[in-house]
Amino acid sequence: MEGSTVLAIFAHPDDESLACGGTLARLADCGARIVVMCASRGEAGSISEPALVPDGDLGRARERELREAAAVLGIAEVLVMNHPDGDLRWDHVPELHEEIVDAIRRYRPEAVITFAEDGLYWHLDHVGVHERTYTAVKSLGAQAPPLYYVTIPQGIMRGVIAAAHAQGGAPPDSSFWGIDPAAFGDGARPATFVVDVRDWAPRKLAALRCHRTQMGANNPIAWINEEEARRWLGVEHFRRSTLDAAAQDSVLERVGEPVALKLET
Ligand SMILES: [Zn+2]
Repeated sequence: MEGSTVLAIFAHPDDESLACGGTLARLADCGARIVVMCASRGEAGSISEPALVPDGDLGRARERELREAAAVLGIAEVLVMNHPDGDLRWDHVPELHEEIVDAIRRYRPEAVITFAEDGLYWHLDHVGVHERTYTAVKSLGAQAPPLYYVTIPQGIMRGVIAAAHAQGGAPPDSSFWGIDPAAFGDGARPATFVVDVRDWAPRKLAALRCHRTQMGANNPIAWINEEEARRWLGVEHFRRSTLDAAAQDSVLERVGEPVALKLET
């Protein structure tokens, strides 16, 4: 995969690690250059511990956390845009569109990854980044690289919570950033292939935990061990968009396997 570039486009720092940190690390280990574009600095997020953001500039803290996570995953470049967290679906639409087009022209990725239509759990910023990426790739016509959508199927996040409880952590009503675990994958279109990242699960977990402002002591991800990460976060789910049906398979499909691959639960 030397010489291949994969561009992953997400909304906030931490999306990259949660959605497909294992795949990004696996591709990087295979020699691909991984570029992550983050549409916002995540300044509207929660703060798990005020001491982590002494100057109150959460966006700056999260950008720093993203760069730490990127280093763990072997991501070569991180492009942090500064669009308004919480309004990505409506604000700065032409600007973000142009930035995505420019990044594709500049990095010439063999594959582009972003959220599916469901934005992992119908987060409107995520849905907005899906829309911007789709239209940007589409605008390139025959020059467009293959576009892939990542989803988290139902049941995964409930499994993470159960694992955290088994470790004695996370309160009974715990959620992920206030999101009902049942919302993950709800109504999502099914994946068409998966990437086995069980051997990369420890790094995915470590990258997630770099996002310290988002990983308070009540977050189930703070509690699971590497074995549980392997079990619940060790397979990542993708679907290729229909924009480029004629294009050749990319690096992503070359590491992919049929969707029948299931973790033993
Ligand atoms: Zn997000």
